Amino acid sequence: MSDYITTIGLEIHAELHTNSKMWCGCKNDPYEKRPNQNICEVCMAHPGTLPVANKEAIKKVITVGTAVGANIADFTEFDRKNYFYPDIPKGYQLSQYKFPIVSGGSINGVELTRIHLEEDTAKSSHIGGTTLVDYNRAGVPLMELVTEPVIHSAEQSVAFARELQRILRYVGASEANMEMGQMRIEANISVSKDPNKFGTKVEVKNINSFASVFGAINYEVARHIALIDEGGAVVQETRGWDDAKQSTFSQRKKENAHDYRYFPDPDLPKLYLSKLFNIDEIKNSLPELPVAKRARFTNVFGLKDDSVEILTDSLLLSSFFDTVVEGKDANFAQLSANYLISDILGLLKKEGLEIGDDTLPGTTSFKTLIEMVVSGELSSRGAKDLLPKLLADKKLDTRATAELLGMIQKNDPELLKSIVSEVLEDNPKQVADYRAGQESMFMYFVGQCMKKSKGAGNPGLFQEILKEALKN
Ligand code: ADP
Ligand code: MG
Ligand code: ZN
Repeated sequence: MSDYITTIGLEIHAELHTNSKMWCGCKNDPYEKRPNQNICEVCMAHPGTLPVANKEAIKKVITVGTAVGANIADFTEFDRKNYFYPDIPKGYQLSQYKFPIVSGGSINGVELTRIHLEEDTAKSSHIGGTTLVDYNRAGVPLMELVTEPVIHSAEQSVAFARELQRILRYVGASEANMEMGQMRIEANISVSKDPNKFGTKVEVKNINSFASVFGAINYEVARHIALIDEGGAVVQETRGWDDAKQSTFSQRKKENAHDYRYFPDPDLPKLYLSKLFNIDEIKNSLPELPVAKRARFTNVFGLKDDSVEILTDSLLLSSFFDTVVEGKDANFAQLSANYLISDILGLLKKEGLEIGDDTLPGTTSFKTLIEMVVSGELSSRGAKDLLPKLLADKKLDTRATAELLGMIQKNDPELLKSIVSEVLEDNPKQVADYRAGQESMFMYFVGQCMKKSKGAGNPGLFQEILKEALKN
């Protein structure tokens, strides 16, 4: 293996989930498809208009800060980051420079430098020599999180970004959907043989999926190492990620990096956060975070690691699970987790459906199903047959449906005994074979009993009765 140390620092932008934009009353709607619907004089930067800071957006950044154990600034302000581009109508982006809202904190043991609040740009589309600009996104609140250069692999970077995504979703700060551009990742990468000295870093932009984060970092690390091994040197630059080619390409060298001439925006007031917000109250009203939820699912219910991972990856799924297993024991929880993960998620996947409020079954219907499996009234076969019906109808009465379909397992010992006697009488040759040592016949008898009971007999009880009956 190589004797290089890889160093990575991430810069991650996330669009905040708020009702209105950052400086005006326009709707913040990432799902609006029609261009230029949610715009006004303020976000179009007409002369004489004034921005008013969105308190909800500031609170969301504070919430994320408290969730990652960071310091919340007492004093904060917004700065103008000056540059011209058609997607930025003011000629500057409102951002934060010297006094970010959040500093410090950590995720997965990776130290954070800061989290600040800025505004998103409009969206340009370059179509056949023409550029179209949609200003619906202009002025949407955007948080930027910057990590310290303390990450050492592509795997660790992806794990970090995934955990951040979960936190953002758990606290309701952002939907953080990468495919929608609601979460965007830039990776700073360098390699060095000297543990006390960083190598020259390259920044990779336009990374739109976790797979691309992984691909881009590994591509860059290999490129740097090859360059240095050949006696060359890494040039400090910004590169883009080409998903189709699975490679990075040079965008701009450091020499012509921008000088943004940051200065505090004179149109916005300086903010003293402890006067505007009750930080302790925000901290105390944080929901259970992914790390705590994982520990609880492991320790209280004894769920397997991969089950814990899948359930807690989705706030919705883990909440569904919590509702179903409330007040129940570990056995019930494990059974619920199994049916939820292998069967329900399997069915959703087959239908091409996402995990959603409208795609999951009703919690009551599902809970009843698990209760019936635990009590032996429903066989696992029966449960699997019922599940699609639960998905089709959220209000399904599980017990009534199982009864109607004759799925309730018959546990009446007398009835099962008479079925066993009939089966043994009908199969004298097989009984003789079994007694002569052909043990595989046993499962044949169980199968015949199940068949005779039309699948409603409890297979476990059948086995017990058969064992007794075949003894003599
Ligand atoms: P710049 O001024 O070029 O934007 P910053 O110091 O602000 O650089 O850092 C930007 C990001 O790059 C941070 O996430 C930081 O952790 C990361 N970073 C800084 N130096 C290195 C390095 N040598 N290798 C990898 N990442 C680095
Ligand atoms: Mg930077
Ligand atoms: Zn507006």
